[in-house]
Amino acid sequence: MINSANAKSIDVDEFGLRLRSILLKKDESAILISNLIDSDQASDIHNINCDGYGRIWHKSILPEENWGEIVLPYYPAAWKLGISREEASTIQVFQSAGCNYRCWFCFVDYRLLVADIKKAKYFTCDSLVSSLKKEAFIPKVIRLSGGQPDLTPEWTPWMMKALINANLHETTYLWLDDNLSNDYAWRVLRDEDWDLMRSYKNFGRVGCLKGFDPSSFHFNTKAPPEHFYRQLEILKRLLETRLDLYLYLVLTSNNISALAEKMERLLDSLQEIHLNLPLRVSPLKIKPYSPTVYRMKSSEEFAMENNQYCALTAWREALRKRFSPQELRLPCYEVKIH
Ligand code: SF4
Repeated sequence: MINSANAKSIDVDEFGLRLRSILLKKDESAILISNLIDSDQASDIHNINCDGYGRIWHKSILPEENWGEIVLPYYPAAWKLGISREEASTIQVFQSAGCNYRCWFCFVDYRLLVADIKKAKYFTCDSLVSSLKKEAFIPKVIRLSGGQPDLTPEWTPWMMKALINANLHETTYLWLDDNLSNDYAWRVLRDEDWDLMRSYKNFGRVGCLKGFDPSSFHFNTKAPPEHFYRQLEILKRLLETRLDLYLYLVLTSNNISALAEKMERLLDSLQEIHLNLPLRVSPLKIKPYSPTVYRMKSSEEFAMENNQYCALTAWREALRKRFSPQELRLPCYEVKIH
């Protein structure tokens, strides 16, 4: 997992391929899904369902303290489904059992990110949807999360087909998390998969920028710093697919020097992809979770308690120089990026 060229970085590609070889049973159209019972994460969860392989996330729609509203995914979900934001904030989550980054703030136990078949089970998407249909309550928003769901990009079109088969595609919204680490989607998906994703009305995907520069990206993920630029390249390719795309931005760092310049550079990079792309970004407030409190180092805690607020201020100031108050008030789903 550790890259010999940079002893402190994960070999994201070797690790990702190794995880994919376990996470996916292509001949059975099955994906390895984490069991959340007995995990450290379980104490942060209100409602584990689907026999332990799913959970319901009650996303707050109130502004976060000293931060503001984190509007994803319930803003676009409510808009697409024509339901209230409150209703769209109750979200069904399934977690892929592997990830090729190691973010210190990850709300998932690291042991649920290594494709451990003893802590997970293979599901076809039809069986995953069947287990959801047995529940007394089915949330309107279904989030494919992880882990890194796009280590197995097949999951998304398979899930869409299963939701269509179950006649749930019109009444639910499908949301895909992506850590923007790999290009497997372009390598393994067929044209018909991309066509399905483009034509599936109630679908949105979010890429998570894990830092605002190479240094903060490495600090947050343990991936090589230059992979920060890979995140931007993948983002550019995703935008060209014309899918409905949103972004989280993680603002923790152990280095908050020259923040104004760093945010200008980040905005330059995003606007090179599309002039309006920064208006689709929702800064993600990093908070403590049960799995993170034990493993967090003092520099990481300081980044969470102090530095991310400085970076947020710099991000907002940089945005105000480039966009009018009216543009900044636009709901993210109304921002044109195609
Ligand atoms: S990319 Fe996501 S799932 Fe992976 S370690 Fe980071 S926060 Fe956790």
